[in-house]
Amino acid sequence: MNYVHRWIDGSAIDLPVGKVVCVGRNYAAHARELGNDVPDAPILFIKPSTSLVPMAPSFSIPTDQGEVHHEIEMALLVGERLQNCDAEDARWSMAGFGLGLDLTLRDIQNELKKKGQPWERAKAFDGACPVSGFIDSRGVSWKQSIEISLEVNGELRQRGNTTQMLFSVFQLVAEMSRVFTLEPGDVILTGTPPGVAALRAGDHFCARFGNTLKVEGDVVSR
Ligand code: ZN
Repeated sequence: MNYVHRWIDGSAIDLPVGKVVCVGRNYAAHARELGNDVPDAPILFIKPSTSLVPMAPSFSIPTDQGEVHHEIEMALLVGERLQNCDAEDARWSMAGFGLGLDLTLRDIQNELKKKGQPWERAKAFDGACPVSGFIDSRGVSWKQSIEISLEVNGELRQRGNTTQMLFSVFQLVAEMSRVFTLEPGDVILTGTPPGVAALRAGDHFCARFGNTLKVEGDVVSR
C-alpha cells in the first residue's frame, strides 16, 4: 500500500509525498542522554519518501537488526517551495502539523558512528518514519508552546515541549531551506525530547500533540 499524506479526518491531502528532513539533538536533554555534545548548528539528515508510513492503526519494525528506538517528534508538512527562506516565510508556508516517529536502529547507528559511516542504514530504511494525520495549519495561529508525548504500554516514555528546542521550529525550517530546497509535500521532523528507548513487536503506543491530536496503535513485526 502506497503512503499518502492525510488530514486528521483521514481524507487524502492533495500534495505529493516528498523527502523527510530531520534534525539530530534539537533538545539538549536528549543529546545528553546519548552522551553527545550539544551542537552549535543543527545536525541535519534526510529520510527518503519510502521511509514514510502511516503511524496508525499500526506500523511495523525490523526485528532482526538490534534495538529499534522510538523518537517522537513534532512533524510539519511543507505546503510551499522554500529556498533560503527566513523564519517568517517558513511559518506561512506550512500546510499542516502532526507527529512523526524517527525510528532508529540504535545498535546499528552506534556501530556506524564508531566507524565514521553515514546513518542511513539506521534511520532511512523503508518504514523508518511513521507519521500521523496532519492538522490543517492554514488560518490557525501558531502556539509557541506545544507539548508532545509518547506512552508505550501505558507507561510515559517521552515528553517534551517545543519551548525546550535548541533551534526553534521556524528558525530550524529556515536553516534547513539553506541546505535543501523544501518542496510541497516534504515533511520536517523537529527533533526528539529525552526518553528514547526500544520498541518491541506487540507494543501498544499512544502519542499526543498538545490537546489537539492523539494517535494510538500497535507495533507489529516486519
Ligand atoms: Zn530524531
